[in-house]
Amino acid sequence: MTNITVAGTGYVGLVTGVCLAEVGHKVTCVDNVQEKINILNKGISPIFEPGLDELITKNIEADKLTFTTDFQNAYSRSDVIFIGVGTPENEDGSANLNYIYTVAHQIAKSVERNCLIVIKSTVPIGTNEKIEKFIKQHLENDVRIEVASNPEFLAQGTALRDTLHASRIILGVESELAKQILTDIYKPFNQPILTMNRRSAEMVKYASNDFLALKISFINDIANLCETVGANIEDVTSGMSYDQRIGDKFLNPGIGYGGSCFPKDTKALHWLSEEEGYVLRTIKAAIEVNEKQKFQLIKKSRKDFPSFVGLKIAVLGLTFKPGTDDLREAPSIPNIRLLLNEGAQIHAYDPVGINNFKKIYPREITYGNSIEEVLHEADICFIFTEWEEIKSMDLKLFNKLMKTPFVYDGRNCFKLDEIRNVGVNYQSIGRPAISEYKIKSQVGV
Ligand code: NAD
Repeated sequence: MTNITVAGTGYVGLVTGVCLAEVGHKVTCVDNVQEKINILNKGISPIFEPGLDELITKNIEADKLTFTTDFQNAYSRSDVIFIGVGTPENEDGSANLNYIYTVAHQIAKSVERNCLIVIKSTVPIGTNEKIEKFIKQHLENDVRIEVASNPEFLAQGTALRDTLHASRIILGVESELAKQILTDIYKPFNQPILTMNRRSAEMVKYASNDFLALKISFINDIANLCETVGANIEDVTSGMSYDQRIGDKFLNPGIGYGGSCFPKDTKALHWLSEEEGYVLRTIKAAIEVNEKQKFQLIKKSRKDFPSFVGLKIAVLGLTFKPGTDDLREAPSIPNIRLLLNEGAQIHAYDPVGINNFKKIYPREITYGNSIEEVLHEADICFIFTEWEEIKSMDLKLFNKLMKTPFVYDGRNCFKLDEIRNVGVNYQSIGRPAISEYKIKSQVGV
């Protein structure tokens, strides 16, 4: 049996390790944070991902999955090591590869048998080659190692489904042996496998993410124009989507993409292309549109409220998208920062993101236990995440609970026909504004 180790127990590493165990492999997951390993060993996931706790417990009990911080022991007896540590953004937009190089160094010092090292993290084109060279230079023992690229395409919130039923597996390999080992490992998944060289595999990941980011920025750009020219983005995207070359996915306008991937992966590829003397104009535009898009709601609200000083602002949704507790690059963060700086009192609710948000703003914000609680007596409501709970809320609550029901919806959570009859002033993205709130003195109450 192949001994598999996975380095990193974040969204990618943990889900990879759990799914490899689920299809029958014996897997050791390594992380350098003891606290994470402690709770994982109790069968609890440190990240919010539907269904993950159950699969962790099941595979621990089946003796197929273990968690440890003892990387030396784990790497020393591994045949295959998957690397799934973070590759965050550097100050200049390039990818920070410190975590990858640290793991590579630890592997070089620990491996005691021939080993295939598989990079799952998203890394700039050419990194696999560099890591292979680096490990070979630092090897402690007389063993053969090879590095292969196997980029990850899971999306947070649907990570298990995306891995167990992936659309494709991309293998970037330079030898028949590496191809054979990885094909065998992935055989139980029964998914299409595409084999190519390492550089192409690295590029597939960036090109895929950057294309999706570009699609979002494009539709946001069109949505903004719709507002100006009197069109409705919902009708526009519906009309577009019947063309199968366009499709109906990733055509939802909003306040921009966030998360741990699109922002950094667009910037990293743009940075890399400039280093190579080429300007990726399309990706540059996607980044610029997204930076501005984040503040569309505040821009709209400034027309109604010249100042936010002393206003009670209800915020619904904090995470960068529904289905995750991840706040990395969530548009809620710069918006709330700006509102706080301008003297607003923020009352926020999110179904799962509050504990993580408290790490950023432990005291400056009042956190509510429900939508109702934060709407009570609020002057303004901003919606930053399209959680199902928010989309299905009773729309009458805005008028009933808020002091002045001015609602700015950054995710087009509600149908215009439904929000039209509940007495609110409502603005969303790319759709006509609704102004039905009458201040009490105007209606003579
Ligand atoms: P993450 O930050 O959630 O997890 C990284 C983990 O690695 C953390 O648990 C950290 O403690 C651990 N770690 C750091 N140094 C370590 C070391 N020396 N040894 C062992 N563990 C170590 O990151 P993530 O979101 O899972 O992303 C990982 C990579 O996968 C990134 O390159 C990302 O771009 C890519 N990716 C992410 C997603 C996603 O949706 N999050 C999807 C596809 C690809």
